[in-house]
Amino acid sequence: MIILQIALPVPLRRTFDYLPNGEFKTDLTPANRSELIGCRCEVPFGKGNGRKLVGIITDIKTEASLDISKLKHITRLIDQSPLVSTHFFDLCVWVSTYYQHALGEVFDTALPKKLRQGEQITLTPQILWSATTESRGLSDNALKNARTQKAALNHLLNRSLSLAELKDLGIKNTTLKELEKKNLAVKIEQNPKPTPPSVNPTPYSLSQEQSQALERFSLQGFNTWLLEGSTGSGKTEIYLQAIAQAISKGNQALVLIPEIGLSPQTIARFNARFNAEIVTLNSAMNDTERAESWLKAKLGIADIVIGTRSSIFTPMPRLGVIIIDEEHDLSFKQQDGLRYNARDLAIVRAQKLDIPVILGSATPTLETLHNARSGRFQHLKLTAKPKHQSETVIDLQDVCGKTLYQGLSQESLAELKHTLDQGQQALVFINRRGFAPALICHHCGWVAKCGNCDANMTVHHHPHHLRCHHCDHQKPLLRQCPSCFSPELTDIGTGTEKVEQLLQQQFPDHPVIRVDRDTTQKKNAFTQLLEPVYEGQPSLLIGTQMLVKGHHFPKLTLVVVVDADGGLLSGDFRGTERTAQILLQVAGRAGREELAGKVIIQTHHPDHPLLETLFQSGYSQFASELLEERQLTEMPPFSYLAIVRAESRNPQEAIQFLTSCRESLNHHSSATANVHLLGPLPAAMERKNQNYRFFVQIKSTNRPTLQALLCSAVPSFEKIPGNAKVRWSVDVDPQEM
Ligand code: ADP
Ligand code: ZN
Ligand code: ZN
Repeated sequence: MIILQIALPVPLRRTFDYLPNGEFKTDLTPANRSELIGCRCEVPFGKGNGRKLVGIITDIKTEASLDISKLKHITRLIDQSPLVSTHFFDLCVWVSTYYQHALGEVFDTALPKKLRQGEQITLTPQILWSATTESRGLSDNALKNARTQKAALNHLLNRSLSLAELKDLGIKNTTLKELEKKNLAVKIEQNPKPTPPSVNPTPYSLSQEQSQALERFSLQGFNTWLLEGSTGSGKTEIYLQAIAQAISKGNQALVLIPEIGLSPQTIARFNARFNAEIVTLNSAMNDTERAESWLKAKLGIADIVIGTRSSIFTPMPRLGVIIIDEEHDLSFKQQDGLRYNARDLAIVRAQKLDIPVILGSATPTLETLHNARSGRFQHLKLTAKPKHQSETVIDLQDVCGKTLYQGLSQESLAELKHTLDQGQQALVFINRRGFAPALICHHCGWVAKCGNCDANMTVHHHPHHLRCHHCDHQKPLLRQCPSCFSPELTDIGTGTEKVEQLLQQQFPDHPVIRVDRDTTQKKNAFTQLLEPVYEGQPSLLIGTQMLVKGHHFPKLTLVVVVDADGGLLSGDFRGTERTAQILLQVAGRAGREELAGKVIIQTHHPDHPLLETLFQSGYSQFASELLEERQLTEMPPFSYLAIVRAESRNPQEAIQFLTSCRESLNHHSSATANVHLLGPLPAAMERKNQNYRFFVQIKSTNRPTLQALLCSAVPSFEKIPGNAKVRWSVDVDPQEM
């Protein structure tokens, strides 16, 4: 008797037994394991013949865990050979155990949607745009009135580009058509075939620090390298060198970048350095595009994969190095479903493959710094800025008692004007989108609250409405107080739209560009919005955190941080660390090239010890002080956390469930003293989207203890009576409380 053990995309932390169908060889034995483990099949699931699910075979057994007469047959074997390698399979099993998540759902996160739906994916012939022979002899003067075409042609002169690459570079089809009409570019069809990649020479000689870092860096074997260096210190150059080493040896490289961190500039830089197949994977791609990139990586056609968080699951048979750029970025942690951390997973994957992993950051997380300082990671530092870069001046501007114009002081406005007068660009950073964060009645104090959450509604003017930023509930903008009928409704606080309105009034002759989630919804909006900035026009940028990732603006010389206080006063134990990271990242945007930069930080606490240490002694000293504090309070990285969260319409149900979870945890941890349980406690925002939310925190100073406890207790949570009435999840190494 042969039984197939199958992982299915259902939230139960177990596998399911099925019988083979007629498609299987009759002589099937457990010896066929390697041919079958990792193959997809379709099975009936649930009562009767229920719905059909696509699962992955995880084992071949001779005995079932259940009465054999109750077992169903699979309905279809989808793959003739394993879809994924043993390495990939083992990685998913590791993720399932470590993050306490059902294996079938891990596969569901790790595989492209088309495969999860049981489809086969194949590579379509690739369309490439190429520069023609005519275009090579073109004079410098040609196309001088068609700058976009010229820019596009320059890319093509470097090498032929696929449609996906052209899209990443923001090159439009109409531009290519124009070039085609002028006989400067042609469209060619090519079957994907692996060509040996090559590396172009570095356009400059490496600095002493860069050479020293590279001398230490070795592609031999597993090691985690922390590459610490401020923005512009030359980290990307080290990545490029490490990748060059890897692909020269015939290996592949995987580069993980933050969400929305992939700028056309970065892609252009990779394209200029490597004559290689570079594929990208990001959330803007559709299912077909993703599947193609995935397959190219798996077949070894892609030499370099650049992508966001989930790209850590890209199968790459010759993977030789993994790079995590901006390792501190929060987007590497998935905050729902499978709550994995792609940075941590990169380290695990590198270890399993015995290859190096590089974590780059100007502001490493305290976890990473602690690992580097204690010798678990190798620490490479880049301290010098390239010669032509000038120092940035930091001005902690005391705004106490000062009149603020939509959040900006008179001095800040004067500095903005001065910057524009000099023909330069400025960025106003405000990490809050919308017009204002609250609407209040001046007569009676009524505040517009969301009916679903413990939160105020945000006022939006483009278009006019009230919106909850937590559940997306929307209401028309009120003209009258619903409580006292007074028409005197005022908004309080400042968001990006309000600053935009002010700056448009003050500087009508210059582009004022707002970059936030609301203005970048459409595809390619980012590139289009930023066009005047890249063209070097004097202009003003207003942006949230999404603007400061990965973009280099050579003419940007002034940064104004509207409000540094919110972050300083945050309740989360990571609040100060995050604030420092954001402030330095924003500050790093000013004065990137020969132009000197200035950063104004508006605050009511200019002598706050955090700000003082950060800007006088630097991030390293700042991090040391925070680490001491964490050690005293036994918080990460000096302890390890897991959180069980639960939410329900009726708060009692969530509390009861978590109380049972805590009892189970208590029961299973009775043998070990080194576990601290906390809760059930209400979440920071107790009510969200009509649900009441609570959590239990589990803390231990010993990682294996915590893991063992989770492995023994979490399966029992599934059996707690009433558990179906609550939505619950386990978050190992949570980033947000
Ligand atoms: P980071 O990734 O740390 O922000 P980059 O590698 O992007 O730094 O380097 C910043 C700028 O300096 C880039 O424009 C890059 O081309 C340039 N650069 C890097 N290394 C050198 C070098 N050794 N000599 C001259 N310019 C360099
Ligand atoms: Zn009122
Ligand atoms: Zn809401």
